Amino acid sequence: LGVLPAGDAAMAAGLLAGDLRSLAKAISLTESRRPDHRLRAQAMVDALLGHTGKALRVGISGVPGVGKSSFIETLGLHLLAAGHRVAVLALDPSSLLAGGSILGDKTRMEQLSRQDGAFIRPSPAGGALGGLAAHSREALLLCEAAGYDIVLVETVGVGQSEATVASMTDVLVLLQLPNAGDELQALKKGVLEVADIVVCNKADLDAGAAALASEQLRAALHLVRPRSPHWTPPVLQCSARADTGILEVWQAVCRYRDTMRAAGEFDQRRRLQALAWMWQTIEHGLRRCFDADPAVQDALPPLLDQVAHGGMAPVAAANRLLQRFQRR
Ligand code: GDP
Repeated sequence: LGVLPAGDAAMAAGLLAGDLRSLAKAISLTESRRPDHRLRAQAMVDALLGHTGKALRVGISGVPGVGKSSFIETLGLHLLAAGHRVAVLALDPSSLLAGGSILGDKTRMEQLSRQDGAFIRPSPAGGALGGLAAHSREALLLCEAAGYDIVLVETVGVGQSEATVASMTDVLVLLQLPNAGDELQALKKGVLEVADIVVCNKADLDAGAAALASEQLRAALHLVRPRSPHWTPPVLQCSARADTGILEVWQAVCRYRDTMRAAGEFDQRRRLQALAWMWQTIEHGLRRCFDADPAVQDALPPLLDQVAHGGMAPVAAANRLLQRFQRR
């Protein structure tokens, strides 16, 4: 921590000692839009890197209302009782859409948030999915450094958010409703492709419907190319409200971890994630430079117009802009 400015070194030391305020302040730095804050956050994450990597990172996704927060609350209380420390991060790209945030608006996980050993952080507001993902990745590492051995990353099932959460977690749990028809939606959106464990929640409402939905999900999973030759995503049933089946879901998570570890794929997934994160950061940085380049800004408006009206081929316009950018 010696490389950090004194104030930040103290914050990092507090975080390592499990001080919640230090952790919250450090995460706020990663979320800040101020470039100096971003640099400080990056330096802090880098200095703490040796203390990260030990948690099990679990993504949890599903449509609004499927029971994500109920599930996390019930599961989280079990995990705390078993002696774990649990951090919950949310990645909510719905705040980008009209109507505001889906995850953020209500009081969520009230019981869990009152427990020692639990840390719950809502999704940062605004920005593109890529930006949100970058904050969440840093926040995840900071939680690990603070000693949380399980990090749950929750996301609303909107567009690309599941794939984004899958790209920062070890295992993705997809929650589904016990309605026939939903599984086709999941298939259409490509969500099943990134799910490692599929769970039909609210099984207490109608056991028959839950069984039918599970069968349909299993059939749908057969159409999806498996991500690993060593793992076929299981389809389970649970009720977050009645607290049934939750421990079985956790057992499946642990079985997944053990199977992937034995196959060498657990570490491989993390290595690929780290490299992908690096390249994404480079791509975003290059794009920012490109957008800010005066030569590009000069040439852009007429080219946009020509491409939009068919006066110039998109590739020719793109290459002309890239050449202007490169020449500088
Ligand atoms: P989220 O939007 O995915 O976070 O869903 P919530 O956890 O907020 O749950 C949405 C609604 O479904 C709430 O009214 C919950 O009480 C209810 N709910 C969640 N899990 C279950 C369940 O297992 N069974 C039943 N019957 N209701 C549930």
